[in-house]
Amino acid sequence: TRVLGIETSCDETAASVVTRDASGKPQIISNIVLSQIEEHVAFGGVVPEIAARAHVTALDGVIRAALDEAGMKPADVDAVAATAGPGLIGGLIVGLTTAKAFAAALGKPLIPINHLEGHALTPRLTDKVAFPYLLLLVSGGHSQIVEVRGVGDYRRWATTIDDALGEAFDKTAKLLSLPYPGGPNVEKAAKTGDPKRFSFPRPLKGEARPDFSFSGLKTAVRRTATELAPLSPQDVSHICASFQAAVTESLTDRVARSLTRFREEHSGVTTPTLVVAGGVAANLTIRAALDATAQEAGFQLVAPPLQLCGDNAAMIAWAGLERLEAGLAEEAPMNFRPRPRWPLDETSTPVFGAGK
Ligand code: ATP
Ligand code: MG
Ligand code: FE
Repeated sequence: TRVLGIETSCDETAASVVTRDASGKPQIISNIVLSQIEEHVAFGGVVPEIAARAHVTALDGVIRAALDEAGMKPADVDAVAATAGPGLIGGLIVGLTTAKAFAAALGKPLIPINHLEGHALTPRLTDKVAFPYLLLLVSGGHSQIVEVRGVGDYRRWATTIDDALGEAFDKTAKLLSLPYPGGPNVEKAAKTGDPKRFSFPRPLKGEARPDFSFSGLKTAVRRTATELAPLSPQDVSHICASFQAAVTESLTDRVARSLTRFREEHSGVTTPTLVVAGGVAANLTIRAALDATAQEAGFQLVAPPLQLCGDNAAMIAWAGLERLEAGLAEEAPMNFRPRPRWPLDETSTPVFGAGK
């Protein structure tokens, strides 16, 4: 079974073909990601209207490139999976409509995919990870801890009460005049900074509620940046390193709480797994700290390879294949509408045809 995946929910236009090899091992046959960074950098962030138009222009070629790289003709595709939400409505319409046309023309099944499910299932594409596992999903729009019980069976245990973690990185970068996208640039600047130079707050650290909060931290960064202005490159590095240290400590404290709960609820699982996924999972300081936290609690940490942390279509094709194999993809109607908002824990009972 060869599944074509299409991803257009934000500012990456992506297409990929995923299958299993003869031994049943998942295999990415092709994986094309066209980033629109160049088109948004002048604005310091993603401009939805520009993104939608860029998807229209690029998607045909990206799909063709994914098929070429796989050495396939359109008719060789067994199913088409496309991101149907959550995300920017313009991009979702472009991707899902293209997928519908492709599926209809070939008479192959269409599988609408929740983008967060793509991030959530990625570790099963690249590593041997069995259900159930605990997922830390940290991306541009989400910061959640999710109990992953099976394909389409998700329970959200924690979420952010204000900003997402990737958003906090992006906003911090912006107020330090670092270019978009913020996350990688903050990480880079932090390398030459002192993480102890400024003592930023560790939001919610030690609190009983399991959630995240990152907006107070951003305010503290702004205050420090204003006091020090004009900022030297070394100031920027110190602030980035101190911000990253604060974020990491808050994150590991919050995660540790859920590791304990997972242990209690799944005492039969001998080697419990913590998975970190989403764009922020590419951050090496955060990965290392999570690895230590996981080990302390007797968990193994699984993190996708760096190129599969950010948005891509291999994760969408893979989620499609998982859904097909689980018998959860049979009757996705062609009138499935894009859902700009679509919580992951609703995936088990998709609201077919619902607008939002
Ligand atoms: P969502 O998945 O919630 O819908 P999204 O698809 O826009 O949002 P992703 O592409 O999964 O988000 O992740 C992008 C985010 O990850 C951005 O906020 C970016 O700054 C952040 N990010 C990427 N690399 C790093 C890094 N090395 N360190 C910290 N943050 C990073
Ligand atoms: Mg992006
Ligand atoms: Fe994403």
